[in-house]
Parts: sequence; structure tokens; C-alpha cells
Amino acid sequence: MTSQPCLREHLDTPIVDAYDVVVAGGGASGLIAAVSAARAGARTLLVEHSGCLGGTATYGMVAQWIGFFNRDTRVVGGLPYELSEHVRRLGGSDGFHRYVLAEASSNPVPIYNFPFNPEVLKYAADELVQEAGVALRLHARVVAPLMADAGRVGGVVIEDIGGRSAVRAGMVIDATGDATLAAAAGVACAGTEAAQRRERQPCTLVFRMSNVDVARFRALPREEKRALALRGLEEGRIYWESLSFCSTPDYTDAIGLMSRIHDVDALDPADLTRAEVKGRRQIHNIVGFLKERVPGFERASLAGIAAHVGVRETRRIVGRHTLTEEEIVGGARHADTIALGAGPMDLHEANGGTGIALWTPEHPFEIPMRCLVPAELGGVLVTGRAISATRSANGGSRHMGTAMCLGEAAGVLATELLGQHSDALPHERVRAVLRSREALISVDDALAADTPASAFKAAA
Ligand SMILES: Cc1cc2nc3c(=O)[nH]c(=O)nc-3n(C[C@H](O)[C@H](O)[C@H](O)COP(=O)(O)OP(=O)(O)OC[C@H]3O[C@@H](n4cnc5c(N)ncnc54)[C@H](O)[C@@H]3O)c2cc1C
Repeated sequence: MTSQPCLREHLDTPIVDAYDVVVAGGGASGLIAAVSAARAGARTLLVEHSGCLGGTATYGMVAQWIGFFNRDTRVVGGLPYELSEHVRRLGGSDGFHRYVLAEASSNPVPIYNFPFNPEVLKYAADELVQEAGVALRLHARVVAPLMADAGRVGGVVIEDIGGRSAVRAGMVIDATGDATLAAAAGVACAGTEAAQRRERQPCTLVFRMSNVDVARFRALPREEKRALALRGLEEGRIYWESLSFCSTPDYTDAIGLMSRIHDVDALDPADLTRAEVKGRRQIHNIVGFLKERVPGFERASLAGIAAHVGVRETRRIVGRHTLTEEEIVGGARHADTIALGAGPMDLHEANGGTGIALWTPEHPFEIPMRCLVPAELGGVLVTGRAISATRSANGGSRHMGTAMCLGEAAGVLATELLGQHSDALPHERVRAVLRSREALISVDDALAADTPASAFKAAA
């Protein structure tokens, strides 16, 4: 084994501020976590690496929320539902639609989605955060934990255009999607084992086309879409069995989730770079195929490529409880449930495959609060894609509707834990606050909830 030369640095990092709650990452889960904590009374800082909030929904251009409905039952209320209404009011979406996921694949699944214009979500999220009084730092990366006495996380170290600084926090919420901060603090994680690295789901770089006759494309029979997809695969011009698009509310633009980049460990910077470059090459081929072969795209042009490749899977923490697929299928109930998952269960085939394992659980499933709490370290919670779940359970709990609900719960829990140094979790109080905000936190809540008909648009 060769040992690498090492640069030894001595850093005097100024501690510039102190907050009750600091949230690392302003994606689906983190932006809601920050607003949730602020509304619960915590002085809150939200630190986001990119120039906008929304994460995979905006800089990744994945412009449809799913996970709001299990079959016909709405399972998401509270802040995420409020944000969906706000996006609608701003003209960024026309509401929930019936939609067939992976329609051109061998395995299509009907769901409800909430398609939106990702550019509108950017300023809708700004407004939500500002109205809640959250302090926001964009273009800032959380690079390390600040450890407090007793081995707890007591803040974060941030790097931005101004250099390096530290901020103390009563509680830190890791919403990076990759459990970056938790892992750096020593929280045990799953997903990085050699076997799991080999079966990582492929990445997808998303693109947007303008001047599309969306209605014409949507009206094509499924068999025709499937035949087109298979032809594209045969010609080597598309990369999985799908013509997968969400559309903006004016039906002029189609946002394509059609690239598929295999064998990427998104925790490895060289792999991540390769994924971006390969994704763009794939998009060049896909766009040519669409314009040449697919009705509705004849006059379309490429309007944009996401700023960041979409990453489905990296590491997940080992929490006080690990959500499993057996619990999801078996309808397990938990005294400390703080969010409901809807599915679908969604695992894209790894290792060069072109298929997808996709199915909807019979019932909504309960996610216990303990999935957000590292088994052995205090001062930090994890929300979003990196909560404690098995690989297959994560396939159903990583959708943005669910990630936002987890964020709302993380914000309340962090606030409730301020100043508390025991291991006890105040689940009764957290659940009471969530219920007072009309969050749906049990299957019975979901069955009793009503969704205003105005929230729906006819099938598209
Ligand atoms: C290709 C693809 C398609 C998908 N399709 C759908 C779909 O159709 N509908 C759906 O609901 N879900 C979909 N998902 C799943 C969903 O988008 C993610 O699982 C979800 O966004 C996870 O939310 P999150 O908040 O954990 O992470 P993200 O939304 O990814 O947000 C993480 C945020 O943390 C920031 N960050 C990371 N590290 C740091 C750091 N060190 N310091 C500061 N900030 C940091 C990032 O910049 C980002 O803003 C898809 C995912 C992919 C990749």
C-alpha cells in the first residue's frame, strides 16, 4: 500500500455566530426543516451549497413531486402541502394530476404527481423561508461538524466566498441527502459497503425542452410510446425503457428524466464528474432521437440541462430504528410515527440494466421518528434521503413529498430537543405540534383527511 503525501494544516477558524438550529442543505427536506424549526420558535440558519433552494427539484430539475398520495389517499399535509398551494398561487403548477410513471416501460404504475415549473419553485421557496424568519446562506458549503463537549455535535464549519467560518448550534439537522455532516461527525452509515456500492441505482441528468406539443405526445397510446422507447434503445439513442417527462403548467415544455448513467459512486468526485459529462453526451443523443422520431417534439429545442446530476442513492445513517420493506408491506404501526410514506417503491436497475422495479404499497406506511436520530451521537438529526432505512425501503421513502414531511418533523424535533441532554425523545410533543399544523402522521389521519377538489387538474 502506498501512503499519500499529506499536507498538515493549522486552521484558525473564526466562530462567527450561534443559532438554536442549523440546517445543512436546502433541498426538499432541508428547506422545510428550516421553516418548521423557525415556526416552532427556534432561531434558525439554513446553509445551502448551490445558489437556490429546492435541491434535486430545482438544481436537479426533477420537476414533479410524488409521494403525496398512496393510491387515492393523500398522505401529506402540513408545510409541504402549504408549499404546494403556494407554488400553485404563483402560477408554478396547476395542481395534482393522474400520471403514469414509467409509462413506456414494461412496468408502468399509475400515481398522482404534482408537476411544477422549477424556476417558480425557486422563488416560492425563498418566500417561504423569508416569511418564517430563517437566516439563509446560499453558495455556502457545510464542510465539517463543530464538536461540543460530551462528544455531541455543537455546530458546523462552513466554507463560502468569504472563506471559512464556524457557527455554533443547539441542534444541527443534516439535510444534505448524503448524510455528509453526520458521517463526518462519526455517525455509522450504511450504503458504502462494496456490495451496495456495486448495486447503486444509476444517476440521471435531467433536461428541459421548449416548443413541445405536450398534448400531442401525451395522447399517444401507451403501446406506441413503448414501441418508440424500444426502438430508441435498439438504436442506442436512449438509455432506459422510458420516455419519461413531466410538463410545465403551460404545456409547452417537457422535462425529461431519460438519461441513465451507471456505475457512479456519487460520493467519489471523479465519478460525479464523469456522470455530468456522460449525462450531457446522452442528452445530445436523446434530443436528436426525440426530434426525429417522437410525435410532439418535431419543433422542440433544448432549453436547459440541470446544474447537477440527479443522485438516487448514496449513504444512509444507522438510526435508532431502521425502516424496512417488511414494515412497509406489513403496515407496521409505531407510537412515534412522524410522517407517512406513499411509495411507489422505486428501484432503477443497476449495472447497465434498462428496467425498473416499481410498485405501489397497498397502504400508506408509517415512518418512526427514530429513523431520523443517529443510534449513538447527540446534537444532530438526519432528514431526507439519508434517513435510517434499508436500501429497498429507501426506494419508497426518498420521494420529495415524503422527504418534505420528514423535514417538517426534523424541524419540530430539533426545536423540542434544544437544551435537553438526555436520550429520551419527546415524540408525544412532536406529534402534537405536527397535528396542530395539519400534518398527517398516522394512517387514520390520512383516511380522515379531505383534499379539496380544486387541488386536482383533470388527467393529463
Ligand atoms: C433522477 C431522479 C429522479 C427522481 N424523481 C423523483 C420524482 O419524480 N418525484 C419525487 O418526488 N422524487 C424524485 N426523486 C427523489 C428525490 O428527488 C430525492 O430523493 C429528494 O430530493 C431527496 O430530498 P433531500 O432533501 O434529502 O435531498 P435533495 O433534494 O437532493 O437536497 C439536498 C440539498 O443539500 C445540499 N447540500 C448537499 N451537501 C451540502 C453541504 N455539504 N453543505 C450545504 N448544502 C449541501 C444540496 O445542494 C441540495 O440542495 C428523484 C431523484 C432523482 C435523482
